[in-house]
Amino acid sequence: MKVLVFGLGKSGRALLSFYKDKAELWVYDDKEVDLEKLGLEFGKLEFYNPDVDYDLLALSPGPSPDHPVIKELRKKGISIKGELEIAYEHLKGNILAITGTNGKTTTTSLLKAMVEKQFSRTFVAGNIGIPLIGYVLDSKEGDSYVVEVSSFQLETMVDFSPSISAILNITPDHISWHGSMEKYIDAKFRLWEKGFSKQKKIFNADQSFLLDQIIQRYGTTEEFYSFSTYKKLDRGAYMEDGILYLALDERVELLALKDLALKGEHNLSNALAASLMASLYGVKTEIIAEVLKEFEGLEHRYEVLEELKGRRFINDSKATNVDSTLPALKSALRPTVLIAGGMDKKVPLAPLFEAWNPAIKHLVLFGETKLQLGELAKGICDVYIVDNLEEAFSKAMDLSKPGWDILFSPACASWDMYENFEVRGEHFKKLHGRLR
Ligand code: ADP
Repeated sequence: MKVLVFGLGKSGRALLSFYKDKAELWVYDDKEVDLEKLGLEFGKLEFYNPDVDYDLLALSPGPSPDHPVIKELRKKGISIKGELEIAYEHLKGNILAITGTNGKTTTTSLLKAMVEKQFSRTFVAGNIGIPLIGYVLDSKEGDSYVVEVSSFQLETMVDFSPSISAILNITPDHISWHGSMEKYIDAKFRLWEKGFSKQKKIFNADQSFLLDQIIQRYGTTEEFYSFSTYKKLDRGAYMEDGILYLALDERVELLALKDLALKGEHNLSNALAASLMASLYGVKTEIIAEVLKEFEGLEHRYEVLEELKGRRFINDSKATNVDSTLPALKSALRPTVLIAGGMDKKVPLAPLFEAWNPAIKHLVLFGETKLQLGELAKGICDVYIVDNLEEAFSKAMDLSKPGWDILFSPACASWDMYENFEVRGEHFKKLHGRLR
């Protein structure tokens, strides 16, 4: 078998290690490839040669489907599969899959914490940064794999049919990568294309757009489960009068909202989604409730830092699009200075200002989108434009008083100035740390 592994990041390397003794291997990456060094780890390898008849193009999730090499091989009719799909074909055990525009990593981590409390062989994988294929060789029947799935991974997916799967939400993001909003939506729905009736399928009932899409595509919501932060449901998880409920065979109380360790409305939604999936998988209600009481969330996602100089600091660097910043704005209760801005993904930014929370008193902007955001904020909020995060931080200190919040929720990707959102978040935390 002749396999071309495309992309040599984490997933590509995991693919090489999987195919090492099973196939003749070629590799491709836009960046320079050190074949000798790779060869030491993965055995004999050659660089992509367009004249070879490959049996399989094994894709990492990053490269665009419009990449000339991929297009060329597609034209030749060569089988193209992503790392996740290949892993799925060979893996023993059950898969619980989560996709959506926002909340994937939080929900995946929370669900993993629930499942592993009851089932010892539980693993987390996928877009969270751990390629699923790495687990294949040691996998056993009965294992549980909680997998975060991105739209990039779904784009080429044909044969993926997890036992339990959820779409958390869909809003505009990564449009340029997919080519259009329609293609982005189609990619997300590829989650349910295979083995439709065998999958336990979950969607967010608070998103009317998602509901419309389901009706359009399947004609009914009968075969689905859903979750809602405010609507009573017959088949799913929801909150009513400050209590979280599970309604499957019967309605059971999970816990009171005040006991939920995760903060913010968006996290309530994530908590309901994870609880529903865990319950459908057979995790006991008491265990689910216990984890909901303990799990405080992840770094860079609405992460509340130590109070210094009388201010509370929130690092939400992972808010790389408008829809992930909106819940952070909504959650502001004290007077707040918002620091935002970053790379221009060419998506509409105006929705950020549509229902402005008056608790957000000042807006400090930096990055590629600063002028665009500044223009949109005119007449809504006090705006300051600066050159970088360091300046933004000190401006926010000047503008705020003890008792205020400083919220860093950029609403934009970090790649105009940082390697990734983690590095950007670390920078914010370093600036915060200097106040000690
Ligand atoms: P993803 O893995 O989908 O990017 P994360 O859990 O890493 O999601 O969270 C990304 C950002 O989105 C964070 O700023 C977080 O506060 C925000 N967020 C989390 N869950 C949701 C949600 N359900 N809806 C909107 N924003 C959310």
